[in-house]
Amino acid sequence: MYDPRERERIDVRDPATGNAIDDVPRGTVEDVEDAVSRAVDAFATWRRLPTGERAGLLHGVASGIRSHQDSLARLLTLESGKPLRDSVAELDLAAETFDFYAEVGRTDVGRMIAPGDPDQIDFTRYEPYGVTACITPWNFPLQLLAWKMAPALAAGNPVVVLPSPLTPLATLKFAEVATGHLPPGVVSVLTGFGPEVGEALVLHRDVPHIALTGSVQTGQVVMAQAAKRLKKLTLELGGKDPLVVAPDMSVDEAVPPIAFAGLLHAGQCCTSTERVYVPRASFEEFTEALAAFVSVMRLGPGMDSTTDMGPLINNDAVDRVASQVDEAVIGGARLVTGGRREGVEGGSFYAPTVLAHVDPSSRLMREEIFGPVLPISPYDDFDHVIAMANDSEFGLAASLLTRDAALAKRFYEEVDAGTIYINDPLTPNYAAPFGGMKSSGLGRELGVEGLDQFRQVKHVHWDVVGRAKDAWRTS
Ligand code: NAD
Repeated sequence: MYDPRERERIDVRDPATGNAIDDVPRGTVEDVEDAVSRAVDAFATWRRLPTGERAGLLHGVASGIRSHQDSLARLLTLESGKPLRDSVAELDLAAETFDFYAEVGRTDVGRMIAPGDPDQIDFTRYEPYGVTACITPWNFPLQLLAWKMAPALAAGNPVVVLPSPLTPLATLKFAEVATGHLPPGVVSVLTGFGPEVGEALVLHRDVPHIALTGSVQTGQVVMAQAAKRLKKLTLELGGKDPLVVAPDMSVDEAVPPIAFAGLLHAGQCCTSTERVYVPRASFEEFTEALAAFVSVMRLGPGMDSTTDMGPLINNDAVDRVASQVDEAVIGGARLVTGGRREGVEGGSFYAPTVLAHVDPSSRLMREEIFGPVLPISPYDDFDHVIAMANDSEFGLAASLLTRDAALAKRFYEEVDAGTIYINDPLTPNYAAPFGGMKSSGLGRELGVEGLDQFRQVKHVHWDVVGRAKDAWRTS
């Protein structure tokens, strides 16, 4: 598809050093045309393939991912900065997602409906939309691609993939592995910038469905563009997730999961804990213990097995996080630990940071920070903390630490978030739906609900005998 000699190239950098590790072509509108037209050709046969055969091919992709896990994980760590163990876990989840949708897509094909007349049959059947754009961010490029690509393919759609220009390398290799198990044209990958190649893909007349994970701002742009042709949309966007520690939890029990939830991938998960609420009576004790726990974490390259936390994706991200922290401190917040650039020369590192008494109306408490920053606030009672948890335009996920079943029930009933984690924050389950309420998105990925995003339902009403009806007579 690409002739590397003729293309402008985009450097891909290792966030741990700032050095370029490779480059990829800067895609053009012609590349979009080419990929979509091959996908349209592939659709004609892919949609009609018996679901058992499709299942076999998708299981093949899963085993291909497992047999290339090592090289894929290393590439992912090099370009994203995340610790190697996290890249390995991402690939496990990607392979499991293909196995899951292979089986759900094989058996879940529609349902019989009670007819209005004994000589009639009513049933539904699921049909694919057609060429599906899978647009992914840089933080979990392969996991989030699998969450789109596996159900899209299982439902009979070919896909055209656009990874972030910051992390295209593992996606290119992943697609190479997948295409080895699939017919030509069913999967294509574009590289380039979202406002160029992404926009051309979103606007393309032969792309009826766009599945995007990214920021709220990108979601808004894509939604406006998709509206021109009333395209089907799945949007997984940002979050500002709260974590509440109930009064029954000790500091020792609560601090490690809080640190995990806030600092996994340096706080660059869509479901990162970005607001921590603890009982007022033990606020100072929690604050000091959390600061002590995170301040000894080792920062370093993801390839180093002793690294607890890797770099942010690039220096722009470090600047953005630093400016939000500085602004909060000027606004009266107490910097308990961190609040500074740190780590290996040339790398995009920022120290794990704990802030106390942050103004609830500040940017740090309202906008997604996407960095290793934990603002901690006290609450008076459970009514108070539920109101604070819900005081956000986002609603992606929310976490509670407690052994008190009554509080757990109140929390999952009253907090507005697409996922509620109780005592186990940030743990995905490929069989359960994932997605956001409020500004955090539209639709769901994973689970059977995630397959529904990629298929449309058709109702067939059939009078088997074909008798003439009274209503047809003229008077
Ligand atoms: P981003 O919005 O900058 O980019 C996401 C993707 O959209 C990239 O591939 C980009 O090339 C593409 N894009 C950008 N402009 C486009 C356009 N006009 N048309 C079509 N495509 C376009 O996001 P990012 O910085 O890569 O990722 C971080 C964001 O993703 C955060 O906001 C994070 O919360 C969110 N995220 C959400 C989830 C979730 O499941 N809800 C998961 C991970 C990340």
